[in-house]
Amino acid sequence: MRIVVLAGGIGGARFLRGLQQAVPEGTDITVIGNTGDDIHLFGLKVCPDLDTVMYTLGGGINEEQGWGRSEESFRVKEELAAYGVGPEWFGLGDRDFATHIVRTQMLAAGYPLSAVTEALCERWQPGVRLLPMSDDRVETHVAVETDGERKAVHFQEYWVRLRASVPALAVVPVGAEQAKPAPGVLEAIARADVILFPPSNPVVSIGTILAVPGIREAIADAGVPVVGLSPIIGDAPVRGMADKVLAAVGVESNAAAVAEHYGAGLLDGWLVDTVDEAAVARVEAEGIRCRAVPLLMTDLDASARMARAALELAEEVRA
Ligand code: GDP
Ligand code: CA
Repeated sequence: MRIVVLAGGIGGARFLRGLQQAVPEGTDITVIGNTGDDIHLFGLKVCPDLDTVMYTLGGGINEEQGWGRSEESFRVKEELAAYGVGPEWFGLGDRDFATHIVRTQMLAAGYPLSAVTEALCERWQPGVRLLPMSDDRVETHVAVETDGERKAVHFQEYWVRLRASVPALAVVPVGAEQAKPAPGVLEAIARADVILFPPSNPVVSIGTILAVPGIREAIADAGVPVVGLSPIIGDAPVRGMADKVLAAVGVESNAAAVAEHYGAGLLDGWLVDTVDEAAVARVEAEGIRCRAVPLLMTDLDASARMARAALELAEEVRA
């Protein structure tokens, strides 16, 4: 079986770990990762979502935090701060720095991001084929109003520095319109037996991947079951501030509204948490098959049960 998964950072990575446990060893899993969160810092190219997937599946993640390296130190950051060089709000550890140095060096030598990601994964052996959504630069910007003035900030500045404390007026994946899917992305979708949307952020993770021209169409036309899992449980995101960016695109923060946002043109199946049982009828009325199952990734077994439920729903849809 060939599985394609669209993924952001933490939600995507934790789900993928469960999926790997749920399927027979050697199952072909291709991950299409969000690169809209990428940011240039200290002259280095940082790809937070790709790295979260790579470190999580490769055993190098800081488990409590869900992002960054395990057993990390922050000497370089301290030294930079001593020179008055920031941003101080973005946590880059020493071990993590090495990844970004290698990546930046390879990009400067002319390798596309997809080839660089493949090279980094040779060390981490994540057990999946990890592809960036695009080799072209796409950068998610968020329009906010501060001191009566409307301006756009980088997604990381909105998320990490501002902690989404001001309303997001708009979310724009800058460069997406001109971006092409990375080599292998459309091919993987076309060859897939099932396509999964983990409980990643529907706007700034999966939404950004779908904004790359060709990807949404390829998924809709693949003719295989497309099944998603809700990142919203009981009308609130499990982690983070997804409600803020959902509001920016006019979507209510609840499991049914997110399914409707993806739409029946894209989604065949949708899993909501058991506390959202009442949403099942509303989602099914949209023409999307829906089931309520526990959706909290409290440990690996819980994530694996979610992955199994998603694959079962895919089989139901196929039948
Ligand atoms: P990010 O790039 O690190 O923000 O990660 P993703 O976009 O992949 O995932 C973020 C989303 O994961 C958030 O909207 C959370 O609500 C969701 N999430 C995190 N943990 C869980 C969980 O245990 N269960 C579910 N259903 N969603 C989760
Ligand atoms: Ca992200």
